[in-house]
Amino acid sequence: MAMTNSQDLFEKSQKVIPGGVNSPVRAFGSVGRTPVFMKKAKGSHIFDEDGNSYVDYVCSWGPGILGHADDRVIDAVKAACDDGLTFGAPTRKELEIAELVNELMPSMELTRMVNSGTEAVMSALRVARGFTGRDKIVKFRGCYHGHSDGLLVKAGSAALTQSVPYSLGVPKSYTQHTLIAEYNNEDSVKKLFEAEGKDIAAIVVEPVAANMGVVPPHDGFLQFLRDITNEYGALLIFDEVITGFRLSLGGAQEYFGVKPDLTTLGKIVGGGMPVGAYGGRRDVMSMVAPLGGVYQAGTLSGNPIAMTAGLTTLRILQKEKDTIYPAIEKSTRQIADTVRDTLGDTVHVNQIGSLMSVFFTDQEVVDMDTSISSDTARYAKYFSYMLDNGIYLAPSQFEAMFVSYAHSKEDVSKTCELIKAYKEN
Ligand code: PLP
Repeated sequence: MAMTNSQDLFEKSQKVIPGGVNSPVRAFGSVGRTPVFMKKAKGSHIFDEDGNSYVDYVCSWGPGILGHADDRVIDAVKAACDDGLTFGAPTRKELEIAELVNELMPSMELTRMVNSGTEAVMSALRVARGFTGRDKIVKFRGCYHGHSDGLLVKAGSAALTQSVPYSLGVPKSYTQHTLIAEYNNEDSVKKLFEAEGKDIAAIVVEPVAANMGVVPPHDGFLQFLRDITNEYGALLIFDEVITGFRLSLGGAQEYFGVKPDLTTLGKIVGGGMPVGAYGGRRDVMSMVAPLGGVYQAGTLSGNPIAMTAGLTTLRILQKEKDTIYPAIEKSTRQIADTVRDTLGDTVHVNQIGSLMSVFFTDQEVVDMDTSISSDTARYAKYFSYMLDNGIYLAPSQFEAMFVSYAHSKEDVSKTCELIKAYKEN
């Protein structure tokens, strides 16, 4: 498969863009390949600058639940463009999407639109701190919540509760209020609350972790987080940037039956446009300006084109939920089962709904430690094999595989046949 145009574009891009990419994972660093430069996408397929086509399981890292360029979404966006790209004033569509989000996720009584998942989480934490009057937050090792300063933390070597930045440019003082617990580990959370409970504003968690590969919560883990936050007067924030409208129409909170105080959204809520959202309890969200003293704003927030893409996508999901969600689950399960049958216990596959990861480890993957037991060189080899055979997977062991409603039986069969033919050595 020729990739000379991609190579050429990558070389040129590196001269004017850091690392040649606008988000680091796109550089294919951990799989040792040249990134594929994409030109267009339709349905389940994405097409590169050399004319190659791939069955796409990245789906723009999650937004593409309907597949690429769904005609209904594109038509609605084109029509919205004719009315103007941005007004910086309230619009009917912002009302309609907030109403729909509230209908699909009733815990989101008030919702504020922003421009990315990063912004959504950053803002939700500010609200949680403003509401509780407390500074500390708990996050889980291996969960990703965007690149705001206070969240780029790793556990420090000293005490359990010491956190240090993992990015240059983040002052230590910015991460001192971020406490780190272990995913799926109640004790690690209990210890933090016993030590610092009265200062903890919130727990923020990916209800299904999907940024250390896909790691579902143990039975009762999310309910435990609900109970301990209630006990200590802290808030529970579900970061549903990935799980929202994907795990089920009502997100992970509907799927697991646990109601957070605040929710953050991104990806699907923007239907392919740059959108994030945060919202939740009316009393908590009433802290947000102009109602309350927590400041948060955005020139392009609630942008009419972005709202149109999101609203159209959510309406389609709502209307067709009974066919869409079982179908994407079934396709994903078929792929997961094929990997298990083919590679046996030399891999561990986590799958929930239309999210899955193949971990190249013989351990059950339940948290960050077990996730990083994966052999990334084995993943890189598997990735390359699939890419060269027209299957576009996430270029990192630690990202989710996303399946869309546009993935046909033929796409899934082709994928499974390739997996069956895979020889590791
Ligand atoms: N939260 C989660 C769970 C995510 O997966 C991501 C991005 O992948 C973010 C937040 C940040 O979203 P964005 O990349 O839109 O800033």
